Amino acid sequence: SPRVGVLALQGDVREHVNALRELGAEAVLVRRPEELSSVDGLVIPGGESSVIDKLSRAFGMQVPIREAIAAGLPVYGTCAGLILLADRIIGAIDGQETFGGLDVTVRRNAFGGQVESFETDLVSAELEGAPVHAAFIRAPLVEEVGPLARVLAALPDGRVVAVAQGNLIGTAFHPEVTGELRFHRMLLDRISARATTRAA
Ligand code: GLN
Repeated sequence: SPRVGVLALQGDVREHVNALRELGAEAVLVRRPEELSSVDGLVIPGGESSVIDKLSRAFGMQVPIREAIAAGLPVYGTCAGLILLADRIIGAIDGQETFGGLDVTVRRNAFGGQVESFETDLVSAELEGAPVHAAFIRAPLVEEVGPLARVLAALPDGRVVAVAQGNLIGTAFHPEVTGELRFHRMLLDRISARATTRAA
């Protein structure tokens, strides 16, 4: 079974470990460069993106993660993780940086004010079966999708909340809290496709 890391600097690490194990993957915590180099894919959890950014630099993880992304490592970012995968962010605090890789502009805390957290069904042309029931928790929004990225899911009003580009997947919501496993499965599919290519 594939070995999938969950970046464990801050955030809802445990929920992603559980989701990955439910799908039959081996899930391991990743905090150090040598741990990153032992995994076939990576989840960047929700949490506080500026904190995860700061800790990733303190732990010497920013450059290795950027290199892994450039080398085609499959990576799935949820919420703060989506922010960290975005090439451009609006509302950064404290000189916050990202790993980048997704050709999108993401606005942090886009649903601030009275409705910081909510659940809703999404519209997706990509996912088969039941509608995606998504939990948004101080969530970001994809404000602009560049030519290299593509939309995976949107709110009923059309605002984009899930994107993909090559081996990267980003969602503004938390599938791991509503039992929605299709995005984690998408990550595992990319991992097995990459393993096949590399073995050939
Ligand atoms: N508001 C957080 C941030 O900007 C993201 C919230 C979340 O991951 N649930 O990093």
